Amino acid sequence: MTKVLKFGGSSVGSAEALRRAAAIVREELPGGGLVVVSALRGTTDLIGEACGAAGAGDLPAARERLVALRDRHRRVASELGLWTEIRSTWMPLFERLDQLVTGMALLGEATARGRDSALAVGETLSAHLAAGCFGGAFRDVREAMRTDARFGRARPQLSALREAAAPWREALAAGALWVTQGFLGATADGLTTTLGRGGSDTSATLLGEALDAEEVQIWTDVDGVLTADPSLVEEARPIPRMSLGEAEALSAFGAKVLHADCLAPGGRAGFRLVVANTLRPGAPRTEILPHPPAREPGAVTSVAYKEGIALLRFPAAAGLEAPLDAARRLEEAGALRFGLVSSPAGTLMALRPETSAATGVLASLAAAGVGCESGWAVVALVGEGLRTDPLAALRHLAALGQEPVGGLLTGSSTVSIAFLVPESRLGELIPRLHDRCVVAPFQEQP
Ligand code: ADP
Ligand code: ASP
Ligand code: MG
Repeated sequence: MTKVLKFGGSSVGSAEALRRAAAIVREELPGGGLVVVSALRGTTDLIGEACGAAGAGDLPAARERLVALRDRHRRVASELGLWTEIRSTWMPLFERLDQLVTGMALLGEATARGRDSALAVGETLSAHLAAGCFGGAFRDVREAMRTDARFGRARPQLSALREAAAPWREALAAGALWVTQGFLGATADGLTTTLGRGGSDTSATLLGEALDAEEVQIWTDVDGVLTADPSLVEEARPIPRMSLGEAEALSAFGAKVLHADCLAPGGRAGFRLVVANTLRPGAPRTEILPHPPAREPGAVTSVAYKEGIALLRFPAAAGLEAPLDAARRLEEAGALRFGLVSSPAGTLMALRPETSAATGVLASLAAAGVGCESGWAVVALVGEGLRTDPLAALRHLAALGQEPVGGLLTGSSTVSIAFLVPESRLGELIPRLHDRCVVAPFQEQP
């Protein structure tokens, strides 16, 4: 049975990290399997900045980024003793990136399609390097990962993906060790797309589904999924076992450790999903189970948040057609919707634009007179315990005290409660909510 391992940017960010990842691959995939790698840490941001500068007509600033990118990659490859071997593979990729950026500067525009092609270079450089380092063969994920043409946040086309992945299934079942890119896809016409920032997790689970894998392992830089974002909550603790529903809610509401779309394939295919720490391979891992572990009624196991939320307010007189039409346009442009609540008093929509196209739609709605506020964040308390004691959610809200809450976003999920707070309050609120509401998983029932 096939196993899929995914290494995030921090797990392949340096020669030392790549060596550690290689040891994990040897340990976990002695009989072959598929390894999905992200771009080297910081690469996607750097290429994004180069595209931004080029689109604004500043080619020298864009080229500066590309030089930094080349130097960094060359240094890592040299430290691994792979530079001579990989140089001829990499040169055309660097040239392509230069051409793309030059084209953007000439046009004075970085389109979503152009950006995706540029970002693909970062992922491809990394996958070639990792293949060399792990002793596997590079395969371009665009052979298998069919998507629609929503550049910047493409949606997978599952039956086309499964069909295109048939040769992969056979080769991997026969013991091949392949290394491929995350985050990327291709349309039926062969145009390069991306799945949205952090999308390599989703690449791994989608490929796991298409390859009938028994297990998908997400290797990152923390001890699995924690009770909160460790950058805001020092006391955040690893969660040994969680349900798919909890993981889905946690990632949907912003926990960066898992991409929001990466849980659905496991729900459909039933493979084991594991989150582990490249820095401490022997440490306990988080296992995400189709069936929920036992939780105390009302227990919350984690808190998540996402900043950069915009609120749209439609008066009751606007009815439902205007907000629904706006929601459709925003979604089509790649925005993430966090809530759409309608009452006789009006309709509230919370969303994160994510793509330049969605920012454009938002600006056009504001220009047409729709009430539009930025600077909000969504916060969610998540736990299977809320399923058995839904009113506990309301008791937990008492921890908010006098905070200016912008709205409650109850949805179809029975394992989470979400609400809006001003972005500027997150630093204080998340630790407070963690302290008062999250039952640490060491109290998990057997
Ligand atoms: P990768 O490069 O491996 O994909 P990411 O940076 O995308 O890694 O995700 C891992 C990071 O997610 C962690 O370093 C941590 O800072 C952040 N994070 C936020 N919320 C959580 C959480 N609940 N559990 C674990 N990590 C979290
Ligand atoms: N390299 C991409 C990003 O930084 C994809 C990923 O890391 O998952 O968003
Ligand atoms: Mg990630």
